[in-house]
Amino acid sequence: MVLEVCLRKPKQKESLPGVDENKATFGRKVFMRGVIEFCNYCHWDCFYCGLRRSNRKLRRYALREEEIMRMVRRIVSLGIKTVVLQSGDSNIYSRKFLVAIIKKIKKLDASLAITLSLGERDFDDYRAFYEAGAERYLLKQEVMDRRLYAKLHPGQSLSHRLKILAFLKKLSYQVGCGFIIGLPQQSEKDIENNLKFMQEFKPAMAAIGPFVPAKNTPLAAQPPPSLKKVLKIISLVRRILPYSYLPATTALNSLAPCGYERALAEGCNVLMSNFTPFSQAKLYALYNQKHFLTFAAAKDIINRAGRQLSLERADYPPF
Ligand code: SF4
Repeated sequence: MVLEVCLRKPKQKESLPGVDENKATFGRKVFMRGVIEFCNYCHWDCFYCGLRRSNRKLRRYALREEEIMRMVRRIVSLGIKTVVLQSGDSNIYSRKFLVAIIKKIKKLDASLAITLSLGERDFDDYRAFYEAGAERYLLKQEVMDRRLYAKLHPGQSLSHRLKILAFLKKLSYQVGCGFIIGLPQQSEKDIENNLKFMQEFKPAMAAIGPFVPAKNTPLAAQPPPSLKKVLKIISLVRRILPYSYLPATTALNSLAPCGYERALAEGCNVLMSNFTPFSQAKLYALYNQKHFLTFAAAKDIINRAGRQLSLERADYPPF
């Protein structure tokens, strides 16, 4: 039913659901985050992801501490108040190393918000990262159908992922979750269940992106969903989560050149500019033709969309 509302044809001149809710809560602001994809090793084998461990054709990298800190300093120098540290699921970096780097970043600028997107780790790691100063954690549930989840994520389970999400919230992280639209064999019911889950969970950030095929994966030949379908679901997410931060994802821009602008028009209010060193960013190949969004390009997109750039931390809830 939820999805039917979302996919119904809007009457002429009727604004899509979601746009008004975004204006009411956030005005014209688009919040800028600086992301560093610091490691593309992953020990999981997700069917749709170019970083999966079976992809032997991908050259792997793991940035050293000084390389990560150089990028953090660049983000700080531009006045951006959120740094996102993202990597594949890997134990290359120990708890001790990551705690030390979180503390170092906080020492550099105590007002900086740190978002981690490191996948599944020991529960004690999440606690240690929070105590070191990381306030936000992004972990997408991806799909809500248990069987499809197990099929697409060998060795992983949806119940464990949901347990982690609940634990992160209990630790007082501002928790982001999200799902993929258009995976092969994904039913409309699954999308509805994702929406219902998020409506109840009330994430600080909702990362909704389309399935985009990645070469050298089992789903390399599968088609992506239409941009229209993805945008309609995003506008519905904005309506059911009026206070959450919604990134216009790079995956959206892979569907159509104007993907970012279209997503902003439907209620997205975050852009993630990429501060990964360029030679490594090319290797963070989650899917084909992943776009490298520079800070300058992100500012242009915001201007073209008639919106206002905000570098502030923008915590959740936004009041
Ligand atoms: S989706 Fe995440 S966990 Fe799965 S292979 Fe890719 S990086 Fe690893």
